[in-house]
Amino acid sequence: MNWPAQFWYAPGILDMMWRYLSLVTFVVAEVALLTLPIRSQQPRIQVTSDSHAQLPSVVPPQQSPSPGTNISQTPPSAPSEETPGLTVVLDPAHGGTDFGARGPTGISESDVVLDFARAARIALEAQRLRVLLTREGNQGPSFDNRSTMINGLRNAIFVSLHVSSSGPVGTARTYYYVFPSDRTPAISPTATTTTAPQTPPAPQTPGPQITARATLIEWDHAQRSSVDLSRQLASLMQAELLPRFRGSPEMPIAAPVRQLRTIAAPAIAIELSSIDVTDAKRLEQMAQPLAEAIGRAVGEFHRPLNPAASSAGR
Ligand SMILES: [Zn+2]
Repeated sequence: MNWPAQFWYAPGILDMMWRYLSLVTFVVAEVALLTLPIRSQQPRIQVTSDSHAQLPSVVPPQQSPSPGTNISQTPPSAPSEETPGLTVVLDPAHGGTDFGARGPTGISESDVVLDFARAARIALEAQRLRVLLTREGNQGPSFDNRSTMINGLRNAIFVSLHVSSSGPVGTARTYYYVFPSDRTPAISPTATTTTAPQTPPAPQTPGPQITARATLIEWDHAQRSSVDLSRQLASLMQAELLPRFRGSPEMPIAAPVRQLRTIAAPAIAIELSSIDVTDAKRLEQMAQPLAEAIGRAVGEFHRPLNPAASSAGR
């Protein structure tokens, strides 16, 4: 379109265009800064899974959401041929200034669960599952940031890891979320809710295990859409933990675990006992059987419910 010269050279228009360009530059720089820590951690993911170097990369960097980034600015990419059917978001709980439980030797829960998550990631990547950690080091993302990380994904499950300060050493429990007022079938309108800091979760891929969500979901009640699947996942997990951690309960436990409430996907928390050991090696020795249990339970949960996943992109 040929605009009149006086229009182009009008000082007001030039000033407006300059401001617009400055704003775009600022936004681009801001997004780059926010995603920088996550991108810079990608090589660590590859390094950790060296033992599976023959496998194709299952963590496309452009699809790694940044917990601190508004998801609406970086919508999840459309599924591609290389994207496996399921993403497992492993959540080493606590972090940052929140050390979690502290043991007599000075060891902190936040460090132990990070080691657990790294071991579990290797077990899951061996199954060619895409794995993300809610923190790669001693960062301390908020509950909502961790939830945002998974709620922006299409087909994902969430496994939060804790170490208790009590309980028989060498036992493990799986939790799934139960709403305190779970007799009401619908979302309680009286609940104090936090406005979702993002767009509603994306509709699911054709996999049958997760119902498509076409309507807005209240952030504070996001888990309501996945309670049954979370319970199934928890049951599978506890069944795998039981033989590896003798003395553990046979069944998973329903509890209002805060982190799980705002997750619009199957979500569980695993808690091992306990940080109260005089020999830190006792905890180190739990990492491998825990990783095996997570790998097996997630595999069992994924396969029968989404048989197409085993043939797609593999
Ligand atoms: Zn904890």
